[in-house]
Parts: sequence; structure tokens; C-alpha cells
Amino acid sequence: MEAETVKYPVVRNYVAGQFVDTEAANTLAVESPLTGEVLAEMPLSGAAALDTAVQAAKAAFPAWSTTPIKERVQVFYRYKTLLEQHMAELSELVHQENGKTLDEARAEVEKAIELTEFACSLPQLVAGEVMEVSKGVECRIEKRPLGVVASIAPFNFPNMVPHWTIPNALVLGNCMILKPSELVPLSAMRIAELLKEAGLPDGVLNVVNGDKEIVEAICDHPSIQAVSFVGSTRIAQVVYRRATSNLKRCVALGGAKNHLLVLPDAHADMTASNVAASMSGCAGQRCMAGSAMVAVGSVDHIISKLVEEARKIVPGQNLGSVISRQAKERIERYITEAEQAGAKVLLDGRNPTVAGNENGYYVGPTVIDYVTPDMAIASEEVFGPVLAIMRTNTLDEALSIENASNYGNAAAVFTQSGGLARHVMEQASAGMIGVNIGVPVPREPFSFGGWNESKFGACDITGKSSIEFWTQMKKVTTKWNPESRTNWMS
Ligand code: NAD
Repeated sequence: MEAETVKYPVVRNYVAGQFVDTEAANTLAVESPLTGEVLAEMPLSGAAALDTAVQAAKAAFPAWSTTPIKERVQVFYRYKTLLEQHMAELSELVHQENGKTLDEARAEVEKAIELTEFACSLPQLVAGEVMEVSKGVECRIEKRPLGVVASIAPFNFPNMVPHWTIPNALVLGNCMILKPSELVPLSAMRIAELLKEAGLPDGVLNVVNGDKEIVEAICDHPSIQAVSFVGSTRIAQVVYRRATSNLKRCVALGGAKNHLLVLPDAHADMTASNVAASMSGCAGQRCMAGSAMVAVGSVDHIISKLVEEARKIVPGQNLGSVISRQAKERIERYITEAEQAGAKVLLDGRNPTVAGNENGYYVGPTVIDYVTPDMAIASEEVFGPVLAIMRTNTLDEALSIENASNYGNAAAVFTQSGGLARHVMEQASAGMIGVNIGVPVPREPFSFGGWNESKFGACDITGKSSIEFWTQMKKVTTKWNPESRTNWMS
């Protein structure tokens, strides 16, 4: 991005409908990982800035929460149109700050539109329940908003992940503090601007930028009722413990190690291209990336095809960068350690050269065979375009490798047998299962969320399950004296 086209040279908080400056002891440089160039400067806000935003959200809550949902949702109908109109600009912003390809960035904004569409359907889904429970006595249930809520986001989907929470929480009547990842804070500023243009009242959405200090302040703030978090498992645990110990509702999504079980009867071409895309899409920086393949029996013909498919994925062309120099070094260290431990590198993506972007943070697609379950690369989240292949003789062995993972975001099986697919669907210890699909992201209205250490908390983050997270039920029991009207009439 040329300097003059940088829309936000300084990242600012967005409070009560205005961008505001923050007094900060420390600032970060926001880099484009595509080139290593600095895009913007970001002051790291502290607890006082958070409190100002919370007060703005509290002030907005009475009017917003009592605006009928059918009116609240109109903002999001208009906002969806604005997302469509600004698709090119929003995708470019994601591309620049995150490093994924422009096509991947566009797909991310398309998903944000789908999430907004789902929020527009909420009035049809949240109507309450009512029943006469004994003569003249009626019970009813209404779903009411919680108040001020918070959403903390990771770096890998700067536009989409904020849309996992903003549209649903706000349509349901809450006011929100959004804390974007400090590595990719630019998309959130544009989201806030477009929501204002769509007619969102000031204070309903506030954006506070920072790192650990703000996250801790969110978990501790007495006026925040609920915290939604997406990021690594280590931090998800910290946030879940801290928020719930402060008696807040919390759902915290963590990291992943998703297993792709490839059986000998799998369709070779479809499986090879699917596995290659799953491990390398968004440079492997997806919590849904298939990073561990478990090859059951004789599947060498599929492995050679998948290496050929992966070879067609070229850094700087159809493969974006990883997020930072540290990420590149970490990913390449995993590859080297696996090789030193005896695994066989079939395709080596270490240190690629990308003409014109020599200072960007790229790792090429990497396929490593004969990984064993005791190697770090077999069980830890690498978060790069790297596939670790483990060999087994039976499906039960493959399932026991999958079941042993601490994570449980997604798992997939590649086979043409319905019975075997069904067995894996039942036995895999993961929240999202793919059958001949390497990235089994549920589409709306189905909810998104993993199991085990990939998610802490009771609800999923999107879809119908999120309604429960963002609302509380008011139960009303009524009885009226049937005599009273008669008396009044006489
Ligand atoms: P991260 O955990 O480093 O950061 C996430 C958020 O936590 C950021 O906003 C960051 O500012 C904050 N944070 C960082 N360190 C903190 C600390 N010590 N205390 C409090 N807050 C802190 O995650 P990331 O690197 O931005 O994102 C990648 C991770 O997110 C991967 O593990 C990926 O699997 C995971 N992820 C999971 C899902 C899912 O649906 N399960 C979706 C997207 C990303």
C-alpha cells in the first residue's frame, strides 16, 4: 500500500461514534507482512481508555435495548449493502494488514456478509414462548440482552471474526466493546465507520485497541457482562478463567490441530486437492486448517498427487504471507525439528524467495511424511502451510491419534464408504466434522465451535447457539382477575 493511500496512519479508538486519540505509554508499528513495511502506528490503550468506552456503551444501552428488534435489524440490512458496495476496499485492507491473498481476503468479507445476513434473520428466531399453564395463568419467556459485552479477536481473520460477534450481539440489543488483534487493527476501524453510516447509534459499538492490558481490563471491568474471545488456547484459558472468576459469561475459542483421515478408497484427485487446499489456505493460518493427515493403509498414490497439488501453490502468487517474522521462524523451526527427528520432507517451503517482496514473511507449502505421534509437529499447532503425515494400518489406530489430541476443533475423513464416514463422524473428538471436505466450516444458520481445548464455555460463537450466549431469559407468570373488567363495565 502506498503511503498516501493509507487511510489510518495512526490507529485510533472508536468511542461514542467518534475516533479518539489515546494517551499511551507504548506504541506498536502495524506492519504489512506482505512486504515488511509499516502501515500504521498503534498506541496501546490502557484500562482508562477501556473505561471511557464502557461508559459510552452503558449510556447507549437503554435506548438501543428498548428499540424494537425489527428496527434494530434495519441497521444491519443497510450495513450488508455497504459491505457489498465496499467489498474491494475491505478486501484490500485485509490483504494488506494480514498478508493473505486478495481472493482469500474477498472470501473473508463474503463470509462477513453471510454472518450479517444471519443476524438479519434473528427477529424470526428469537420470538419468545407463551402458554396458559393453569386456568387464567400464563407463563411467557422473553429473550433479553445482557448489557455491555466484549469481543476479543485474533489476527487471522481481521474482518470475519469481528462479524462472528458484532451483528448477532447488537441485533439482540447489546452494546459492545471490540478489541481487535493489535497485529491487524485497521479493518475494525472501517467496520465501525460503515456501521455508523448504516445508522448504528453512537456508543452501541466501541473499538478499543491494545494488547494484554486491555484484555485483562475487559475481564475485570465490573460493567461488562459477557466476554467472547477467539485466539490461541493458551490465552483462551487465561481469558476464560479470568472472566468467569469475575462472574462474567464467557465463550473462549482456542487453537486447533485438525486431523484429516485419508482412507485407501478415497477419491484420489478430490482428496489430493482438498487436503492441499486445507493445509495451505490463508497460509495455514486458519483454526480450521487440516494440519495433520493420518494416512490409513495404502494411500501413496494420493500422497503423490497431493504433493503435486501443493507444488502448484506458490508464495506471492496464490499463497499469501504468514503474519510476522516470528511466525515464519517458528513455522520453519517446526519443519527443521521434524526433519531432524527422522520425518521425510516431501515438499520443502522453507525460505522461499518472492520477487518484489523479498522482505515479506513467506513460507511455501510444506508436506512432511513419516511424522510420528511423539514429534512436536504431530500434536502442536504450527499455524503455517505445513502438512504432517502420519501413517497407520487401521482406521481405529487413526482415530486413536485423532482422539489423543488436546484440541478438537475439526476433523475430516476422505472415503467413498458411507459406513466408514459415519464411524469417523461418531468417533472423532472434534466439534466440526468434514466428510470429503477438508475445511468443514458450518454455514449459517449452523453454529461454529470446537470441542476440548479448542473451546471453553457452553455456547458456540455463531449461528443459533449464539442467541443463547448473547441473551438472558426473562420468565413472566401472569394472572388476571376475570371479574375486574365486569366490575369496571358496570
Ligand atoms: P492470540 O491468542 O495470540 O491473540 C488473541 C487475542 O488475545 C488478541 O486480541 C491479543 O491481543 C490477545 N492477547 C495476546 N496475548 C495475551 C495475553 N497474554 N493476555 C491477554 N490477552 C492476550 O491469538 P492470535 O495469534 O492472534 O491468533 C491465532 C490463534 O487463534 C491460533 O491459535 C488459532 O487457532 C486461533 N483461532 C481460533 C479460532 C477458533 O475458532 N477456534 C478462530 C481463529 C483463530
